[in-house]
Amino acid sequence: MDFNKSQQLFKEAVELIPGGVNSPVRAFKAVGDFPVFIDKGEGSKLYDVDGNEYIDYICSWGPLLLGHQPETITKAVQEALLKGSTYGAPTALEVEIAKMIVDAVPSIEMVRMVNSGTEATMSAIRLARGYTKRNKLIKFEGCYHGHADYLLIKAGSGALTFGVPSSPGVPESIASETLTASYNDLDSVKRLFTQYPDQIAAVIVEPIAGNMGLVPPAEGFLQGLREITKEYGALLIFDEVISGFRASYGGAQKVFNIMPDLTCLGKIIGGGLPVGAYGGRKEIMEQVAPVGPVYQAGTLSGNPLAMAAGIAMLKELGKPGVYETVETKAKTLAKGLQEAADKAGVKVAINQSASLLTVFFTEDVVCSYTAAMGSDTAKFKVFFQSMLNQGIYLPPSQFECWFVSLAHSDEDIQKTIAAAKNAFAAVATM
Ligand SMILES: *Cc1c(COP(=O)(O)O)cnc(C)c1O
Repeated sequence: MDFNKSQQLFKEAVELIPGGVNSPVRAFKAVGDFPVFIDKGEGSKLYDVDGNEYIDYICSWGPLLLGHQPETITKAVQEALLKGSTYGAPTALEVEIAKMIVDAVPSIEMVRMVNSGTEATMSAIRLARGYTKRNKLIKFEGCYHGHADYLLIKAGSGALTFGVPSSPGVPESIASETLTASYNDLDSVKRLFTQYPDQIAAVIVEPIAGNMGLVPPAEGFLQGLREITKEYGALLIFDEVISGFRASYGGAQKVFNIMPDLTCLGKIIGGGLPVGAYGGRKEIMEQVAPVGPVYQAGTLSGNPLAMAAGIAMLKELGKPGVYETVETKAKTLAKGLQEAADKAGVKVAINQSASLLTVFFTEDVVCSYTAAMGSDTAKFKVFFQSMLNQGIYLPPSQFECWFVSLAHSDEDIQKTIAAAKNAFAAVATM
C-alpha cells in the first residue's frame, strides 16, 4: 500500500492543527507516525486519499451503526437541508426525536438535545449538582465522559492512549471535587460514600465501559451502584453515549434492567451528525432552564439536519432483528479472531458485547482497568500495522472498541479474520 498523499497532507496538517488532528484519538502516534486521510466512506468501507480501500471498524467511533452513507439517512439530511440548515427556533423534528428517545429508553421521561457527548455529560452533571445541592462526583478510572474539566480525571480513550488521563489546565480546586473509583469494584464506591456521605451529587458510569477497550459490567455491579446511590441520596448517571441504541434499542439500561436517574446519549442518535442528549425523570429534568434554574443552552442544539439524521437512524434501528443481526456479526468476528490468535500461539483476551469488541494482548481476563492496562501495547502496534496494510482499519489504540456495523458483510468478517491470521503470525515472531 502506498500512503504518499496521506503523508503529504499530514506534513501540512501538523503545521496548522495540533498533532494534525481535530481529536487526539485520530492520531496514529501510538501505532505509527501519520494517520491515513480519508476521502470517502461507503457501507462498511473507507477509502483514503491514496485510493486504498479499508474495512472500517471505527465507524466514526460509534455513530455509524448502519455503516457509511445509509440511503435513508442521506435522503433525510438532503430533504432537511433544502428547508434550511438551522433556525434557532423549535421544529417538529425535535418533538419527533424526543418522543422516539422517551419511548425507547426506559428511564428517560424528558430529554434535552445538545451538540456532543461532552455537552451531554457536562450538562447532566451540572443538573445533578443543582438538583442535589452537592458538589462531589464519582467517576471510574478508565471511563471517558468527554473533556469537561472535572471529567478529565483518570479518564479513558485518547487521554489514556496518550498518557494524560488527568489533564493540565484543570484547576486543583475543580479536580478535587471528582472522586475516582475502580470499575467493577463496588467496595471502592462504598468507601467513597462512607468518607463523604452527604457531599456526593452523582456517580457517573459507562454501563458498558468502552473507553479503556471494552470492559462489560460484572454481575451485580450496576445494580449495586443503583442501590448505593439511592441509599446516600446521590444520582446515578448512565453515560450511554456509546451504549445508547447500541447495546439494545433501549440502551444498556434496558439490557441490564437498571433505571438510572439521568442518561447521556450521543453518537448513534445523530446518525453521523454532531449530537448529544441528556434525559431522565421529569422531576429532575424540569430543573433545567427555562422551567427551572439550572442553565444550559445551545445555538445549534436540536439542529434540523442532525435531528433528521437521528430520526432516520432510529427508524432503521427500530426494525425487528437489527440488533440480533449485528451482534451475530460481532460474535462471529470475535470467535474467528480468538481461533486465529490461538493458532498463532498469541495470548489474547477478547471482550465482546453487542456490536463492540476489543482484542487485548494479555493473558488475563479483562474485567477491570488494571487488567486492561496489563496489555502489551507493543504487540498491539505490530498487529495494527499488519491489519492496516491488509486493508483493515482498526482503532489506532489498544484501549478502544472495534465497532461492527450492519453494513459489515459476512465476507468482510471472513476477510478480517483471514487478515488477523497474518497479523497474529507477525506478533508471534516479535
Ligand atoms: C464519545 C464519548 C463521549 C464524548 O462524546 P463527544 O461527542 O466526543 O463529545 C462521552 N462519553 C462516552 C462514553 C463516549 O464514548
